[in-house]
Parts: sequence; structure tokens; C-alpha cells
Amino acid sequence: MASNLPQSEPIMRIGIILPIDKQKIVTISFSDPSLYEIETLDRQNPSCKTPDMLNVSVDDSEMLITKIIEDDNQGMTIHTVPAGRGFHWEKTIDVTLPGNIEISTHNGWLLLTNVVPLEQYLACVAVSEMSGACPPALRESQTITARSWILAAAENKHSDLNLDACNDDCCQRYQGFSQMTNASRKTSIDTKGIVLTYDNQICDARYSKSCGGISESAENIWDMPHTPYLSSIVDGSETDLSINWDTWFDKKPNAFCGPHFIDEKHLHTYLGNVDKEGHYFRWSVKYSQKEFRTFFSEKIQENVTNILKIEALSRGESGRINNVYLDYQIFDGTLKTLNITNEYDIRRLLHPSFLYSSCFKIIMENDNIKFMGAGWGHGVGLCQIGALGMALNDYKTEDILLHYFKHTKLKRLY
Ligand SMILES: [Zn+2]
Ligand SMILES: [Zn+2]
Repeated sequence: MASNLPQSEPIMRIGIILPIDKQKIVTISFSDPSLYEIETLDRQNPSCKTPDMLNVSVDDSEMLITKIIEDDNQGMTIHTVPAGRGFHWEKTIDVTLPGNIEISTHNGWLLLTNVVPLEQYLACVAVSEMSGACPPALRESQTITARSWILAAAENKHSDLNLDACNDDCCQRYQGFSQMTNASRKTSIDTKGIVLTYDNQICDARYSKSCGGISESAENIWDMPHTPYLSSIVDGSETDLSINWDTWFDKKPNAFCGPHFIDEKHLHTYLGNVDKEGHYFRWSVKYSQKEFRTFFSEKIQENVTNILKIEALSRGESGRINNVYLDYQIFDGTLKTLNITNEYDIRRLLHPSFLYSSCFKIIMENDNIKFMGAGWGHGVGLCQIGALGMALNDYKTEDILLHYFKHTKLKRLY
């Protein structure tokens, strides 16, 4: 396979307003218009003075707004940008962006693309959820992982729009300068151009919040081939685990993401988007039959009157279930069965909103259904809480990355 290693800093194309947003007009304002030049298709020689504020509609010709004088503290603000597409909290926000923008139309709707050097993009997204208290080794590990993931471009979610990523949760949430901190800028500079490689290719480096003690192999979560550097590892020093899933969820093994290395009460001082009372390493949810039937009926669009059996048919190496079997009865007495055969649907269908992970054991007794679980997220690749546990215990960036991504090498591309 040909090498995919770029020789210089790539320029990324990030979708900010997408055709699915069905916008026909966008307002852009400039904190310092003299830094920018506007070019349109019908005006090849621009030099028209950039105004403080600009309304662009789909009826205008394609437009390019270029930053002609570099100034890291000034940007252009795009108004009413969608955030949280498809979530109940979907809203619009104003975002101030580094780099240039391109505006074009796609099937009659606006497409606004931020054209931004990779390192500036990473300084916004890679560690935006981490506080200034985070040890540098965690920030560096996360930034190198994010850089590798986006350059590997294995998922190619928006290639139809000629984008490397969008600004939303399906890629990495990107809100421009508001996410940039002195620490994030420093981390991007300190790790500039460094990626994980395997067999001279950039690694499709994945990460999730907590593996629960053992990381998962990618092929147990997604429809993808076995990948040596995305294979299960024991996240700790106890490598001689004789695992029995009946007892695993009662134990707290000596894992980097477990209480021996990081107290969950203190997680929120380092990582955003975590609950102060949250238990992620080991957790449990308990439903009455009635509670379970109520949300489950709605999710599968049937009138379920009895849950007879829930059984895990297969698990990956981390304990994540990837095939679960349910026996249930509906209102007219008919007995039915359902197989759920992927991690995402298991988490979506067996909880009113979403389970922390598909790594749990099932206990059905009396009128209750209880799941005792471990970890948060798909568990493949870097375990963020484990990497935090390692960093707080003086492991270096390289130790952390080579622990989660076995057989890889760090390489500086530019
Ligand atoms: Zn996306
Ligand atoms: Zn872990």
C-alpha cells in the first residue's frame, strides 16, 4: 500500500453550514475587516473593501473570504451556525473562525466551509473539553490521537461534500476560537506534525472515555477488519486476568481508568462533560419490568407486555456485548424474540436514552431488570480516563500512546 504520509501541514476543509441545515442565507461579521479579502466568481479582481458585516445568500455566486494578514487573535464570525444536529438540544450559535471560508451552493442550499491549517483546527478541537489542570501528557496524547484520526481519514463521513470533517458530534465538535486556550495552542505547537504510524501508514486512532479495565478490539464494534493497533489490551498492570464475566462487574481491577489511579470524584477537574457523581468505571442501572417495557415498547414500536429473557450471546474481549437476545411478549399474547447485533443499538435500545457502554451483565430477578456495567463508550483505542490516570502518575506521552496503540511508532511528519 502506498504511504499516506503528508510532507507538510495539511489544510483542512471543515463544514460549518451544511446542505442538510437547509439555510439560504448566512451573516458574517469581521472583528477587523482589513485583514480579509473577498473574492467572488463574477469579480475575479476583488479588492472590494471588506465590510464589517456581510449577508450572503444562495443566489450570490460562489465566494471566497481569505485572511490576507495573519493574526491569531482575530477571526470572522459566522452567525446562526447549527450545533447538536439531530439531538433534542439542537440550537444555533455564533462561531468565530480562524483561516479562510468558502461559500458555495449544493442542491439549492448553502455550504459554508472553513479552510483552516490542521494545527489551528486541532488547537480548537483536540483538547477543548480538558481543563487547564490536565497534565500535559494527557493533552499531548489526545492531540496526537486526534491528528492521526483525522489524517487517516478512514471514516470519510463527508467526502460527498469534499470535506475532511464537519463541525458537529459526528466528527469532532468544532466551534472555532471559543475552544482555543493557551494550553491547547501550546499542545498543538509542542506536538506539531506528530502522528501514530503503523506499517508506514497513519493510524486510524480511535478513543473513548473509559474502557472499563480492558480495551475492545475494533472488529467487535464496527464492521472493519482486524487492526493490530486497535486490538484489545489490558489497561493496567494486572495482565494475568482470568476473566469470568459473572464476576468481572463486581470487581475493580487495578486499571489505569480505575480508582487506584484516578478518583472519579476528581474527574470533573480535568475532563469536561463528566458528572460530579458519575460512576463510569463500574456502574449499574435498574429498571422495574414496567419501566423497561415502557421505553422498550416505544423504541421498538411494539406494545410489549412482558420481558421474559435478556441474554448476552457474545462479547468482545473487553466484555462489551455485541449480540444480545430478548424473549418478550406483546399485548395479544404473541411471543417474540429480538436479536440486537451491534454495540450502538444495544446501548440505544436497552436504556431510555443511551447506556454508558454495552459492557454489562444482566440480572433479572423478581420484578426487576438490572444491568451491572463497566466503562463509557466503545472502548476501542485510547481510554481517555485511563490516559489521565497514567499522566497523573508520571507516565510520558509516548508511554501512554504506545500502551493503547500497540505496535505503533510516533513520527513527526512536518
Ligand atoms: Zn461530521
Ligand atoms: Zn481504561
